[in-house]
Amino acid sequence: MEMDDKRKRQSMMLYILIGMVVFAMLHTFVFPNMMQQVVTDKSYSEFIADVDAGKVEKVDLDRDTTEITYTMKNDKPGHVYKTTMFPNDDGLVERLQKAGVNFSAHVPDETGALFIYLLINLLPLAILIGGGMLLNRQLRKQMGEDNNMSFGGGFGLGGGLGRSGAKEVKGEETGKNFGDVAGQDEAKESLQEIVGFLKDPERYAEIGAKLPHGALLVGPPGTGKTLLAQAVAGEANVPFFSISGSEFVEMFVGRGAAKVRDLFKQANEKAPCIVFIDEIDAVGKRRDSGLTTNDEREQTLNQLLAEMDGFDNHKGIVVFAATNRPESLDPALTRPGRFDRRIPVELPDLAGREAILKLHAGDVKMEAGVDFGVIARQTPGASGADLANMINEAALRAVRMGRTRVTQDDILESVDVVIAGEKKKSTVLSEREREMVSYHECGHAIVAAVQDGKAPVSKITIVPRTSGALGFTMQTEEDERYLTTREEYKQKIAVLCGGRAAEELIFNQMTSGAANDIERATGIARAMVTQLGMSDRFGMMSLGKVHNQYLGGDAALNCSEGTAQEIDAEVQRLVEEGHQTALETLRQNRFKLHEIAHYLQKKETITGDEFMRLLMREDGFAPKIPDTEQSEKEAE
Ligand code: ADP
Ligand code: MG
Ligand code: ZN
Repeated sequence: MEMDDKRKRQSMMLYILIGMVVFAMLHTFVFPNMMQQVVTDKSYSEFIADVDAGKVEKVDLDRDTTEITYTMKNDKPGHVYKTTMFPNDDGLVERLQKAGVNFSAHVPDETGALFIYLLINLLPLAILIGGGMLLNRQLRKQMGEDNNMSFGGGFGLGGGLGRSGAKEVKGEETGKNFGDVAGQDEAKESLQEIVGFLKDPERYAEIGAKLPHGALLVGPPGTGKTLLAQAVAGEANVPFFSISGSEFVEMFVGRGAAKVRDLFKQANEKAPCIVFIDEIDAVGKRRDSGLTTNDEREQTLNQLLAEMDGFDNHKGIVVFAATNRPESLDPALTRPGRFDRRIPVELPDLAGREAILKLHAGDVKMEAGVDFGVIARQTPGASGADLANMINEAALRAVRMGRTRVTQDDILESVDVVIAGEKKKSTVLSEREREMVSYHECGHAIVAAVQDGKAPVSKITIVPRTSGALGFTMQTEEDERYLTTREEYKQKIAVLCGGRAAEELIFNQMTSGAANDIERATGIARAMVTQLGMSDRFGMMSLGKVHNQYLGGDAALNCSEGTAQEIDAEVQRLVEEGHQTALETLRQNRFKLHEIAHYLQKKETITGDEFMRLLMREDGFAPKIPDTEQSEKEAE
C-alpha cells in the first residue's frame, strides 16, 4: 500500500514535469510563429507624435483595457506598437482623421485566434493543475484529511482571464470612521442618520420611511469629502464602491453608461453599501452649456439618473457624490429622489484646524509640548489636506535634520512650504484682509441684532466659503412667513448695508467685499418701489413686471422714461436711508464692534449665542438703539 502510493506520486511528478516542458516549448516555438509579432511599447506622447508625423498606418483600440495597438507605415511586417490611451483625450478621433489613419475599436472576442492562443496556453496549465489536484487529493488521503493545505487550487486561474482585463469596481472596506475626520462636526451630524440607515435598513423600511437616495458633498478640494464618505461606510460597516467622474468620460460611446450600470448592479448585490462618485461635475455638468455636446457624457449622465431612480432603496444603497462646483451641476441631478441632500464640507476654522493637526500628528513621532494652537492660528484658509501635508512635510524635515522627533519649528517651517504652494489655488487671506472681513461681518450682525432685539444671527464666520464669499453672516431663519412689512424690508436693507458701513466707519475705506450686499439691497429697494407699492413717491402703482424666479429674465419696467429716472432716485434714497441707519447704529456701538470683530478675527467662527453674549455683556449693558423714528423723519 505504501509502496503503491509512492509510485503514484512519482508518476504524478513526472506528468507535471512533462506538462511544464510542453508548456515551455509551446511558448518558445509555436506561439511566436503563430502571431509573428514584435511588440514595442510606446508612451502615449510618442504615439501622438507618431500620428502627427503621419507615420501611423492603422490604429486599433481595445475598448475594455483602453490599450492602443498600432502599426507604422513602411515598417517590418508583424511589428506592432502598444500604448495605453490617455484618459479623456477627446481630440484623438479628430487627430487620427486629420492624419488619415485607419482606426477602429474592438471588444476583444474570445473566438478565433484568441481561442487557439488560449487553448495552447491553457492546455499545459490544465494538465499541471489537474495533476496537482490529483496529487493533492492523494496527499490528503495520506495525511488523514485533517489539514487545510491546498495545492493546485491556488494557481490563480479564476481571476485574470474572465473579464478580459476590464477594471472592476470592487466594494472595499474603508477602515475609516468618524474618528479619522477632525472638525466637520456639522457634516458628521447630518451623516449620522445615513449611518443608522445603512446599519439597519429594515427598520426604516418597516415604518415606510424613505431615506434620500443620494447626498451631495459640496466643498473645496482637500476638505475631506472622500474621507467623510469612507468614514460613513466604515461606521456602518458596509462596502464602499467608488469611482471618479472623470473615469466615466471616455472617448467611446457606451462605455461610461455600461460602467454606471455595472457599478449599480454590483452595489445592488452587495447592499447595504455606499456608492461614491467623486468629481461628479465631470459627468454631471449642465447639459445646455456650451455649443458642443458630448454624447458620451450625456449617455453616462442619463444612465446615472436612470439608476438613481430605479434602485430599490429598501435594500440600503446610498449614493454619495462629491463636487466643488455644485452650481455647474445639471439640475436633473439635484431633483428630489436623486442628489437631493446637500452636505456642505467647508474649510476648517481655527478649532477645526487644531483638531486636524493633532489627529495627523498622532501618526508621527512628536516632541512633547508642541502647541498646535499656534500653528492653527497661522494657517487660516488651509484645508484638511494642506494640514495633513504640513505634518508630513515637518516629519520629512525632521529626518533631513537628523532628528528622531518632529518639533514645533519643523511644522512652522513646513507651513510656509505648503501655504506658499497653495496660495494661488486657495483663498489665503492676509491678516489685514481678515481684519476687514471681520469688521464687515460684525457690521451686518450688529445692525441685525440692534434692529431686531432677539438673537438674529445663528453664525458668523470669516472662513472663506465655497461660494467665494470671504465671510458670512447667517441670519436665523424666521418662522415661515408669508407677509413682510415695509419696516422689515427697510431693516433688511440696513442689515445688508452694515458690512460696508463698518468698513467706512473703522477703516475709512471701502472694499469690493460689499458688492453682493449692494446688489441685494438694491434689489429689495427696487421691488419696494416698482412692485410692492411701498414708496412714498409712487404709492400703490405697479411700475414693472414681477421678476419670475423660476423662468428667469429681468424684471421689466413698465413706465415712461421720466418715471424710470424717478424710480432710480427713489431706489437710491431707500438704500441710502438703510446705509445711514447702519452707519448710525454702528457709530453708537463702536466699542462692541471693535470687541466682537477682534474676537471673530481670532476665532474665525462664532455662534449666534456667543455673539449675543458678547453684545449684551458688561453688567447688563445693552446695545444702543438709534432713534429710528427720528432718523426716519429726518430722511423724509
Ligand atoms: P476631498 O475629497 O474633499 O478633496 P479628501 O477626503 O480626499 O478631500 O482629503 C484628503 C486628505 O486630507 C485626507 O485623506 C486626510 O488625510 C486629510 N483631511 C482632509 N480633511 C480632513 C479632516 N477633516 N480630518 C482629518 N483629515 C483630513
Ligand atoms: Mg476627494
Ligand atoms: Zn457683506
